[in-house]
Amino acid sequence: MPEDYETIESDVLVIGAGGAGLRAAVAVNDSGQKVIVVSKSLLGKAHTVMAEGGMAASLGNVDPKDNWTVHYGDIIEEGVYISSWKMAEILAKEAPSRVLELESYGALFDRTPDGRIMQRAFGAHTYRRLAHLGDRTGLEIIKTMEHQVIHRDIAFYDEMYITNLIKEGDRIVGAIGIKMNTGKIFLFKAKAFVIATGGSGRVYKITSNSWESTGDGIGMAYRAGVKLRDMEMIQFHPTGMVYPPGVRGLLVTEGVRGEGGILLNTKGERYMLRYSPEKKELDARDVVARANYREILEGRGTEHGGVYLDITHKGPDFIKHKLPAMYQQFMEFAGVDITKEKMEVAPTVHYMMGGIEVEPQTERSNVENLFAAGEVASGLHGANRLGGNSLSDILVFGKIAGENAAEFAKKSEFGKITPAKVKNEIQYINSFFREDGKNPYDLIDRLTSCMSENVGIVRDAEHLKKALEIISELKKEFSGVGTKGLIKYNHGLLGCLELSNMLVSCEAITTCALMREESRGAHTRSDFPKKDKNWIRNIITVLGEDGKMKFEVKPVDEMPGEYKNYVKPEVY
Ligand SMILES: Cc1cc2nc3c(=O)[nH]c(=O)nc-3n(C[C@H](O)[C@H](O)[C@H](O)COP(=O)(O)OP(=O)(O)OC[C@H]3O[C@@H](n4cnc5c(N)ncnc54)[C@H](O)[C@@H]3O)c2cc1C
Repeated sequence: MPEDYETIESDVLVIGAGGAGLRAAVAVNDSGQKVIVVSKSLLGKAHTVMAEGGMAASLGNVDPKDNWTVHYGDIIEEGVYISSWKMAEILAKEAPSRVLELESYGALFDRTPDGRIMQRAFGAHTYRRLAHLGDRTGLEIIKTMEHQVIHRDIAFYDEMYITNLIKEGDRIVGAIGIKMNTGKIFLFKAKAFVIATGGSGRVYKITSNSWESTGDGIGMAYRAGVKLRDMEMIQFHPTGMVYPPGVRGLLVTEGVRGEGGILLNTKGERYMLRYSPEKKELDARDVVARANYREILEGRGTEHGGVYLDITHKGPDFIKHKLPAMYQQFMEFAGVDITKEKMEVAPTVHYMMGGIEVEPQTERSNVENLFAAGEVASGLHGANRLGGNSLSDILVFGKIAGENAAEFAKKSEFGKITPAKVKNEIQYINSFFREDGKNPYDLIDRLTSCMSENVGIVRDAEHLKKALEIISELKKEFSGVGTKGLIKYNHGLLGCLELSNMLVSCEAITTCALMREESRGAHTRSDFPKKDKNWIRNIITVLGEDGKMKFEVKPVDEMPGEYKNYVKPEVY
């Protein structure tokens, strides 16, 4: 097992190569500082590549009345009044510039007949707002940003799994990585760090998220004393595939409903007319997801536990042009031709609104040289995220995080690293190699089942407490997990390391869900079905000095008077 390591220095280390990480790296490079990007998958493979429907920005190309104040109001209302108003303002103002910047970098978008960037409707957006390329917008963004990184000659280490951050005093001084395809250990020294590791959707059994989304950034940040916020807020997307079992949870983009798809139960009833007569299929994700859940629960679902999504009325040419990836996905995985047959769909875990708490203007965490951007960060989306706002989020706040990390690095020196801390981390990695180690994937299987069964779309105290007991048991069992063989390409080792991070997310999600005794946005409690004024608050999770998870409830930052005019008053 390795004892040695190679040290690599940069002014800023960016951990993660999704849209947020790549945009942050470009910003650091633009500032003249040296940046290194690391990623546990290959360049171009980050979860962002899976994004389908589009990127929200009030360009007003299709609906000229749209502007940043309307987008701002939509964010706050969809976030059910616990979003950071400042982040909402920044996002709403900056998103159009990020779309145009992508275009200037060479990204292609669908076009209006007069040649402007086309914008499509998405749930709970007042206007048609999503800039898109068919249903492959994430691929176009990743390709575009990847080209920027390559052309700028930014150093990139792929298949590099960061296990932990090294902290000295109040600052992060390094990060330990395993190059998975060689087994070599690296110490990345930097003056500032940006975490852009994406979400934790994989802590659930049924999810649309890629294999990478195991909440590694949440785990490493938490262990370094970084504050997390609103961890209970998990978005369930209304439409994931249900059949065949191997693809259960895989996303069916909201673009299908945006382009006119309708939801039907097995009685042939378009039930969204009952749940949301005005917005129907294009109401907020939590509303449509709960409607689908209820139809299935009350026996009007399909034999595979789904409802139907039908877009056949739009005709084959339209569908193949507007939704080519969906056409291919159903054809290849389910043998279903969506131009002729209905799709079977059910809610799937899709997005983490919670994550690292950051200062809105800088994306800095409570650790002064640690910044975070993208799905791993929190604040913008409050209790629920508007579709399309994540792609804007990762580029808007990725840029801001990169700029501020570079600014910090300019004024700083490298921190001193105690060699024993590096050695300890290497010993920790090596400790998983043991003959009698339990298979981490058995524990992951139990953990993800526990989360899907007990901390799902509708929650109650009994199930949440049960989940906490299971998580606590799995935490004890974690000390017995292990793997065999070589460190190179060792999947068992990856499982052990990811599991340690998944346990952090699960404990935080479940405890915060139990604490929030109300229903708000994506968080629905059957034992507290109403929204409660006293819960216009954020829940903060942090590692206590005794090594236990601590929680703090604090009021949401109050928005300035004039901003209240952009938002409908909250109704109880
Ligand atoms: C199927 C699907 C469709 C979607 N469609 C849309 C859409 O149309 N519009 C929209 O706005 N949003 C959409 N979303 C959400 C959006 O895609 C994501 O929230 C967003 O792409 C996250 O980007 P990110 O840069 O924060 O992280 P990611 O793209 O998840 O990238 C994370 C990076 O961190 C790396 N990483 C993770 N852990 C480690 C570690 N330990 N060490 C080193 N590297 C690590 C990964 O390898 C990866 O490079 C969709 C999501 C899904 C699942």
